[in-house]
Amino acid sequence: MSELVQQAAVLQKYLELDQRGVIIAEYVWIDSTGNLRSKGRTLGKKVNSVDELPEWNFDGSSTGQAPGHDSDVYLKPVAFYADPFRKGDNIIVLSECWNNDGTPNKFNHRHEAAKLFEAHKSADLWFGLEQEYTLFDQFDNVYGWPKGGYPAPQGPYYCGVGAGKVFARDVIEAHYRACLYAGVHISGINAEVMPSQWEFQVGPCTDISMGDELWIARYLLHRVAEEFGVKVSFHPKPLKGDWNGAGCHANVSTKEMRAPGGMKYIEAAIEKLSKRHVEHIKLYGSDNEQRLTGSFETSSMSSFSSGVANRGASIRIPRSVNREGRGYFEDRRPASNIDPYLVTGIMCETICGAIENADMSKEFERESS
Ligand code: ADP
Ligand code: MN
Ligand code: MN
Ligand code: MN
Repeated sequence: MSELVQQAAVLQKYLELDQRGVIIAEYVWIDSTGNLRSKGRTLGKKVNSVDELPEWNFDGSSTGQAPGHDSDVYLKPVAFYADPFRKGDNIIVLSECWNNDGTPNKFNHRHEAAKLFEAHKSADLWFGLEQEYTLFDQFDNVYGWPKGGYPAPQGPYYCGVGAGKVFARDVIEAHYRACLYAGVHISGINAEVMPSQWEFQVGPCTDISMGDELWIARYLLHRVAEEFGVKVSFHPKPLKGDWNGAGCHANVSTKEMRAPGGMKYIEAAIEKLSKRHVEHIKLYGSDNEQRLTGSFETSSMSSFSSGVANRGASIRIPRSVNREGRGYFEDRRPASNIDPYLVTGIMCETICGAIENADMSKEFERESS
């Protein structure tokens, strides 16, 4: 028996122990670098609604979220999910970060976005995000690539089948099942153009739940990959040269766009988006200029464009939507490393209208203030 198999067998003995009625809640939050952190605590009984969950805190000076002399950052639970690792009544708790003075933490963009969704409830916004990502091994080589070399050029890998064409299918399958168990609305997966690059889709989700579910899907991916000794990168151009970048296409619709004759509302939204290209791009991920070059199925970073079935445009209207005259559109600009609250938030602001007490375009400056 290998050492790993032996360890797993020993652990299993403990996982089967009765929890004596209490549960474990793993609190998850977004740190100052767009990565996730989490810590666990015991709660007295099974949780049925989010307001039963206590607030908690952590040392923000250890995560770049607060200064050492005033280091407490508060965790405010906003949603919870079944825990696919601990199972039973154990849960994963998504939390917003708040400062000691009662203001949202610099990297808490959920709070501002939620105000916009609240104001525009009647629009009935749906989102679907296509999360692309790349896998690396423990030594920071692209997972499964030949040591010190490169695989054959891109071509056979997208939706690839068979040895040498697809890498780490076990990790991807485990993540898919973990999302379903947790209650995340994962709608599909596919292998991408670059070997060891993959995509999962989450949606359609309404309003703020889109950002919530994407963050939890990312958390589950990191946790699953950790067990396989694999690293996940959300960098938009993880490898220089003739290898595809990674994006997070944002599919969007309102009630009006989905109803018969919805195309005129889709066109009106695209017209509004065309006037705020710069504001949107600012919130569409860092290092995105390395990806939005106009090559590898991307548009140019500096100009706005749209088209039916056009994968080289900023905005694409799917062929089927154009045929039916209603449905949704796809914003292809967002990078894989976006904060989905920023992207869905500014989308709501641009399409449905600005509101007095929220301003998504200021959120970016708030991070560096
Ligand atoms: P692509 O053809 O660009 O690769 P995918 O199939 O990967 O598209 O992803 C499409 C996404 O659009 C899915 O997440 C899906 O849930 C979402 N979606 C489908 N219909 C709608 C809609 N009416 N409004 C918003 N999102 C939608
Ligand atoms: Mn896709
Ligand atoms: Mn893709
Ligand atoms: Mn797409």
